[in-house]
Amino acid sequence: MRLNGKKFFIQTFGCQMNLNDSEHVASLLLREGASQVESPLDSDLILINTCAVREKSVEKLFSYLGRLKEQKAYRGSVIACLGCVAQLYREELLSKFPYLDLVVGPTQYEELPLLLSDSWRQPTALTRWRKDWSELPIVTVARQSQVSAYITVMEGCNNFCTFCVVPFTRGREKYRPLGAIMEEARQLAEAGYLEIQLLGQNVNSYRDPESGAGLAELLEKIAKIDQIKWLRFLTSHPKNFSLEMARAMACNKKVCHQLHLPVQSGSNQVLSRMNRNYSREDYLEKIGWLKSFMPDISLSTDIIVGFPGETDDDFRQTMELIEEVQYTNIFSFRYSPRPLTRAARWKDDVPPKVKIERLIELQKRQKEIQSKLNKTMIGQKQKILGLGPSKRGNLYTGRNEAYQVVNFSARSELRPGFVEVKITGGGAYSLLAEASV
Ligand code: SF4
Repeated sequence: MRLNGKKFFIQTFGCQMNLNDSEHVASLLLREGASQVESPLDSDLILINTCAVREKSVEKLFSYLGRLKEQKAYRGSVIACLGCVAQLYREELLSKFPYLDLVVGPTQYEELPLLLSDSWRQPTALTRWRKDWSELPIVTVARQSQVSAYITVMEGCNNFCTFCVVPFTRGREKYRPLGAIMEEARQLAEAGYLEIQLLGQNVNSYRDPESGAGLAELLEKIAKIDQIKWLRFLTSHPKNFSLEMARAMACNKKVCHQLHLPVQSGSNQVLSRMNRNYSREDYLEKIGWLKSFMPDISLSTDIIVGFPGETDDDFRQTMELIEEVQYTNIFSFRYSPRPLTRAARWKDDVPPKVKIERLIELQKRQKEIQSKLNKTMIGQKQKILGLGPSKRGNLYTGRNEAYQVVNFSARSELRPGFVEVKITGGGAYSLLAEASV
């Protein structure tokens, strides 16, 4: 075993895909005899899995690397930068942070055990492209949760939204064979997992490379595994979200009535400049299908404010859209140009002050919407997937079918798993509840 006795620490920035990648990387290193620790101060190997989607995430990484400098001098740990920033900035990272030992893009993780072993000691950047799906060796994935697991089903994106760096960091769409996904799902069921979240940057375009089976068929097959009780999937592009998919969600009893459907803007002028390939009307039609098939559906979205050319009237239309949809949650950001993207060549013409004002207005109104929606739940009985002790006092934490955080008290000690609770309160971002046990 190449890494016998070594201790490693992983810091993850970014989305569920990155969390899932970190779990796979941890599994590869554990298989080589290393052990995972909770602090970089205790480790021989420090791995930083990065996100390049927003400028802010890159800034966070640079400041994190700056803070590690002293530790490196003191400890002599090997420091590796993984993920999308590694793919995008490669040699630049090695020259800007000379104490970095490794820069490894998302398709080269199986080479990490060798690169991190003592036999390898020169600073290296490894960011080759892969056109086909690269299946990591099947190893027991070191998952953070004992009951809820991610499975990556596709990677990359062919859409080239004008603001997005993903096609340049993850490459074009690649689909994982259905057989490998089912094998992983069965292993998870045997290990006691109750919920599976299927991941992909454009998950609705999933096609099994052999049979051509799509996402609805995949969900149907996984739903046949008895032990798996809840299924979710993300991220859905509105352009690829079909009427059939909305029906499949409603008909499959294990698919949670919850969907993240990023709209990005409520204005057709902005959507067109973003190259989103749907209009406000198309989007709202899809929301209409979902609400008519599943009146209890919980919807969330992503919104960018201050995109080049966004006028006050465009922004108003976004505000009207959130009013109409009544999202359970939104992820909202100020536009920032990302390298290699088309929009980065345009004038970033919305002044920073205006971007901030729009973001504050959007977030303030959304917070009111969420508080109001959450108040209507007080007194309801809900099924929660309990994940473990909460950071807040003596409570447990979990998620309801709507994927909202629920912190709850219980009379007895609980293991992760399903539990019935009664909602007793909550604010805009989480609910409070009491378990019946
Ligand atoms: S659909 Fe657009 S925003 Fe989403 S990953 Fe692809 S290019 Fe990026």
